[in-house]
Amino acid sequence: MGESSFTPINRMEIDLSALENNYKAVKSRLEPGTRIIASVKGAAYGLGFKKISKHLVKLGADALTTGSFEDARSLRDEGLDTDIVMFAGALPDAMPAYIQHSLIPTVHSRELAEAVSAASPTTSKVYVKVDCGLGRLGVPLSSAVDFVLSVARLPRVEVEGIYTHLPFSDEGGLEWARRQSAKFDALLGDLKRAGFEAPITQSRSSSGILADLKDACNAVAPGGALYGKIPLSAQFAGAGALQPVLKSVKSRLIHIAAVEPSTVQNVYSARAQPRVGPIGVIPFGRTEGNRAPATGQTAYVLLRGVKAPVLMVTTEHTVVDLSDVPGPVLGEDVVILGESGTEAIRLEDLARWQSTTTSDILLTMNGRMPLLFASWSDVQSACPGTRSSRDTSSSQLL
Ligand SMILES: *Cc1c(COP(=O)(O)O)cnc(C)c1O
Repeated sequence: MGESSFTPINRMEIDLSALENNYKAVKSRLEPGTRIIASVKGAAYGLGFKKISKHLVKLGADALTTGSFEDARSLRDEGLDTDIVMFAGALPDAMPAYIQHSLIPTVHSRELAEAVSAASPTTSKVYVKVDCGLGRLGVPLSSAVDFVLSVARLPRVEVEGIYTHLPFSDEGGLEWARRQSAKFDALLGDLKRAGFEAPITQSRSSSGILADLKDACNAVAPGGALYGKIPLSAQFAGAGALQPVLKSVKSRLIHIAAVEPSTVQNVYSARAQPRVGPIGVIPFGRTEGNRAPATGQTAYVLLRGVKAPVLMVTTEHTVVDLSDVPGPVLGEDVVILGESGTEAIRLEDLARWQSTTTSDILLTMNGRMPLLFASWSDVQSACPGTRSSRDTSSSQLL
């Protein structure tokens, strides 16, 4: 007799048709022939690393990019031979392993470049990263020409790409990105005059693409936009065509109880005073990626299209106020994100309630529950159990 199994309580629904829509929306904003290096960092924001990566390749992505060696290697283990550009995230001692798995390292120091040269049996491609003002990783603009030329002279190293990262979220940021991207374009011009032209050049991520920033590069590296995670205020037209790839996050009521208002006043936060109705409990707490609402915010979940305020978020549970829900039923669906009746909770709502970013919401839930791509039975066979633990990552499930 096989091991007994039961239906997972918490789950995420992933909409691959939204990924396709967003990929096409991004592509439609680009000059024909622009290479798309799709960012799958953060395990594709926890939306199913392998499935999303493979789907992006199927949609036509020219390369994938992530900083996670383990994630990248898992694609190689499955036989995927797409170019994988590794974001910076390693010390020189990792270069032999990168090369062994045909991963393209980002080089931003002499030490990394020399380690690639030393470890290459034949010739290995690298991307050089330039810091154009984000103030994070890369060789400074001022020394970039000399650095690129010196790396290109190393034996068994081919500088295939040169890139920078200029993310922004508003009009002021767009002005900054415009200025800095012009400096990156000027660097490419300087390199050309010095006799070096990299086959691949890239300075635009989602924000630059959606705001129609123009540059002299022949590639882009979108991430968030592909997932319908909008990095910009609504005035940038390109954001309008995107759809959320994360369609829903759902749990189920595991407990319904009457509470005595006079005793719980002290326990529940003053933000959402319970009324006389019953409370409901879902096994979706901080461990699953939920967080208490920020001061002054009231968070909700949805049951049959009715909003139920969040009263308390603990390590493994969230307590909600069911006062407005007629006849709550044990085991019924609770929508944490997504549509229910005529109501909907969006990623942006969760971010506002928790006073954080949409990225943080996704990354906090990353790998903590089964992902539902098609039929329910897929998930049951992949994950017989309720509360999936941290190490039951999406990549293992899928
Ligand atoms: C995250 C990242 C991207 C993609 O950015 P999005 O805003 O998600 O499109 C591109 N390049 C680098 C270096 C990054 O770290």
